[in-house]
Amino acid sequence: MLTLDRKDNTHPIADAQLAAGGGRIVELTGDTDWRQAKAAIAGAVRVDIRFPKFNDGRGFTLATQLRQRVGYTGKLRAVGDLIPDQAQHLIRVGFDDVEPDRKGFDADWARARTRFAHAYQPGQGNVTPLFRHRHKRPEDDLAALNARYRDLSPQDILRDAIENEWIGKIAIMSSFGAEAAVGLHMISQIDPATPVIFLDTGRLFAQTEQYQRQLTDQFGLSNIRLLKPDAEAVAEEDSDERLWRRDPDACCSLRKVRPLDAIIGDYDALITGRKRFHGGGRMSLPVVERINGRIRINPLANWDAAAIEDYFRRFDLPRHPLTDMGYASIGCWTCTAPVQAEGDIRSGRWLGQTKTECGIHTPAQVAAE
Ligand code: SF4
Repeated sequence: MLTLDRKDNTHPIADAQLAAGGGRIVELTGDTDWRQAKAAIAGAVRVDIRFPKFNDGRGFTLATQLRQRVGYTGKLRAVGDLIPDQAQHLIRVGFDDVEPDRKGFDADWARARTRFAHAYQPGQGNVTPLFRHRHKRPEDDLAALNARYRDLSPQDILRDAIENEWIGKIAIMSSFGAEAAVGLHMISQIDPATPVIFLDTGRLFAQTEQYQRQLTDQFGLSNIRLLKPDAEAVAEEDSDERLWRRDPDACCSLRKVRPLDAIIGDYDALITGRKRFHGGGRMSLPVVERINGRIRINPLANWDAAAIEDYFRRFDLPRHPLTDMGYASIGCWTCTAPVQAEGDIRSGRWLGQTKTECGIHTPAQVAAE
């Protein structure tokens, strides 16, 4: 086995399980339909894709589909009749290592995997394709993007972003909160395989978890990317489970910001569900912004409460179970209360504190709702 050294190919949990002789390994062939593969690889710590001939490209396609459409983030190994000249392409579609049938070419594989520093097309890992280096497109300019999207509906903005502007490098962040069904339903009408980033802080309401399952099933969302805080960091920094009370900013950093930071390099653009009518710092929210070099799209920025309600009714969307109890903005159960009298829609968040955003809404990060 030869490591391909993708920049992001660290799988310490899978490696530990495999080293201990445990963990399920699934082998697929290149003709496997990615939809069937999704069920087959559930719970696997490593997926092997077999190449019967070096000129059979189907394994490359399947690898791309597993990474981009299924959202598989575990170990991916290429097995079979492969030659060193294919090393770069294996890396670009997301393989972590290779087990070639032809032995004795280790030095050639090592040279081949670093032969080219650049790539022409977008791919896995953090290599910026050459066209992005060479050309500063008008679309890269925020003012041009905002002007282009200014008069478009949220649905048209999303369609352009997903199908044209950031193909395969875009995801939506969702809290599966009170208004989340609107954006998620729009996404499902365009491409239900669009990655949905869901931050499971370990402090979510049971109703939110149930609502997440309900919307996922009902809308046919096939690529939920569930992010959890690092277990060791939680044990070390929040051993008494009271960090949210002692230092909520540190708690949000531990349970939201850092898990998001760990995967943010996978995408060039992230969609959020924020709206101006939420008040506070969101009142001047643009449709498109750039945070830390990455695009954030807020397609619902211009919509008000009436437009959201109208969309819910038009498509008969299910409501979050807590909205009936007065919760209009829903985060962790420890830090969320019903909307306060005379308060704005987010007045129940971090009640009694000066904190108004969870920390991923700062200039360093931006998240949905
Ligand atoms: Fe912690 Fe509260 Fe932030 Fe949730 S909202 S991550 S419990 S501080």
